[in-house]
Amino acid sequence: LRLTDVTAAMFQQFRDYVDTVLVPIGAIESHGAHAPLGTDCLIAERIVRELEEQFSGRVLALPSIAYGHCFALKDSAGTIDIPDDVLREYVYHAIRPFRDWGIRYVIFVNGHGGNSNALNQVSERLVEDGFTVCISNWWLDYQAEIQKIAPGTGHGGEDETSVIMAIDADLVKLEFAGQFTPTVTPGLRYPKMNRDLYPEGYSGNPAAATSEKGEQILKLVIQRLTQQITSLWLGSY
Ligand SMILES: [Zn+2]
Repeated sequence: LRLTDVTAAMFQQFRDYVDTVLVPIGAIESHGAHAPLGTDCLIAERIVRELEEQFSGRVLALPSIAYGHCFALKDSAGTIDIPDDVLREYVYHAIRPFRDWGIRYVIFVNGHGGNSNALNQVSERLVEDGFTVCISNWWLDYQAEIQKIAPGTGHGGEDETSVIMAIDADLVKLEFAGQFTPTVTPGLRYPKMNRDLYPEGYSGNPAAATSEKGEQILKLVIQRLTQQITSLWLGSY
């Protein structure tokens, strides 16, 4: 079930058996010369589509929250930065009404690290409203397992670029993929830090990306999330 595709009358009937919303959230952000601006969003949408197919009947897939908070890359061409507090309010008000329609579980499928502050704060408010909330950050939550498939991480790096290739290989211009390892001290923030962190809009080794690795990563992420959602419903968390 997808929220965009149902009528109001159909929506009313779901109340009896749909108790979970899946929320894809990403960013419109530079991912180097090789990967699309919507990378984070496209990956979150793909994960949600597969979960929705598996759990159809009990879950409602919401349309994406495509724009996110982008600090480090906000001066890069094509990056749209939504301030943290604006994103927080927007996401909260987009989800809050579902409480009145019988939804108990909110699964944020997040594709972008910059959204984490806002999502953590939104989750606390949603929990106060009575929801149980799960924030899934695919590239972090299963990092150890993903690195067995694609050893390189990074922004627009080997793992992320592989997943985009699995979704749609035409979106990746691998001939423009380079290799870059930033040397910025963790926890440090300073003006124009993107020049050091992402001088070309990416980090890692996207040249090593393949669609086969991307398919394996997607399979792993879907498996793990399927287990997590099932456990959530069983109350074993
Ligand atoms: Zn990304």
